Amino acid sequence: MTQKTSNKANSKALLSALDSQGVQIPKLNILLVDDNPGKLMAHEAVLAELNENVVTASSGHQALQELLRKDFAVILLDVSMPELDGFETARLIRERPRFERTPIIFVTAYNTTDLDRLHGYKLGAVDYLFLPVVPDVLKAKVKVFVELARQNRVIQIQAERLASQNQEQARQLQMIQELNRTLTETNKELESFSYTISHDLRAPLRALRGYIEYLSETCQGALDETSRDCMERIHRAAITLDNLTHDLLEYTHISREQIELEPIRIEDLIQELLQLNPSFQNPDAKIVVAPEMHPVVGQKSLLLHSLSNLVSNALKFVRPGVAPCVRIKTMQVGDKVRIYVEDNGIGISPVYHTRIFGLFERVGEVNRYDGTGVGLAIVARAAARMAGSCGVESSPGSGSSFWIELAAAPLNQVVANSCTKRWEPVTP
Ligand code: ADP
Repeated sequence: MTQKTSNKANSKALLSALDSQGVQIPKLNILLVDDNPGKLMAHEAVLAELNENVVTASSGHQALQELLRKDFAVILLDVSMPELDGFETARLIRERPRFERTPIIFVTAYNTTDLDRLHGYKLGAVDYLFLPVVPDVLKAKVKVFVELARQNRVIQIQAERLASQNQEQARQLQMIQELNRTLTETNKELESFSYTISHDLRAPLRALRGYIEYLSETCQGALDETSRDCMERIHRAAITLDNLTHDLLEYTHISREQIELEPIRIEDLIQELLQLNPSFQNPDAKIVVAPEMHPVVGQKSLLLHSLSNLVSNALKFVRPGVAPCVRIKTMQVGDKVRIYVEDNGIGISPVYHTRIFGLFERVGEVNRYDGTGVGLAIVARAAARMAGSCGVESSPGSGSSFWIELAAAPLNQVVANSCTKRWEPVTP
């Protein structure tokens, strides 16, 4: 396709796009200037076929007046006119910034010298037409400039539309940013509120628990069966409330903690996890750790907390009589690493896979197992704060495979913790 035909195709495509948006480009103006009424009429008749607006002027002065009123796609100027000739008129037209680029075609006699033509080009002529004008040539030349003007107009309209769309997008972005700011502030207020509540509730709860424990020990003999049962229920409720406030405090703490990401060796982290949680080393449970682990970029305290929740769930949610078996491994996925905690537990229906990461969400046979429904919410919040994500693959009866995905740490940046020896798999 030639440049000319591709321009035309572009212009047509733009025009039909605008047309479909209800934008019509009005007819364009063509200015014909000649002191000879016969020539003026003849040229006007030829150009009428272009189906644009043809405006005529019989002198340079009249042409200048028309230019004050309208914009023109192209001007045809007779060179030899009395008073103000074509060249002089062109000079005055070019003086106005609005018409700096309006194409001017001079209409002149064949015997015009090269010098005269050069003079015309210097004054801003884009082309010449020689008398007697051939109608098809006149039409063809004018049509080129009318097409050009139409394309310019289309581009201008598109640019205006783009600018207004950009403005609208900028306005929406600003609105979203403001909403975000408000939400963050509200969130912070809520977090600080729940932190205060959980914190303040703990002391009286602890006291309640202590007194009940004291009473159960000292008054055992004096209580009948029903009273002992009541005491036991109050004790259990106090423990549940205490656990709940503890977990809520942890959750708000994770949300507020200052984040400083660093490369972490998972082997070292698991060793620390076991030291901090002696209950995980239960002789009836088996925890197997893959021999090779990929290091990640994260925050040690948050990752430790998350893995602790996942391992404790993996050990907890097993059918009665089944020995828990937990496997911890990593897998590189592109530039990320997934840390998996797999179990042989009761499994979770896929319909709950998203829900369980919400606060206080407990699903399935929850009454069989202790819990607060905060552990996985902590995992999700911690993963997000470390610029990572988390999820689960599971189905009822087939165990679960929980994962946390974080950025992979370059191997050369991970320094082995010299104090910690390699952790051996714990087997019963
Ligand atoms: P909690 O353990 O205190 O109940 P979590 O937030 O840790 O709360 O877990 C939410 C729910 O997800 C649990 O109550 C349980 O229904 C389900 N769940 C979590 N981990 C497991 C698992 N390993 N196997 C089966 N179900 C699980």
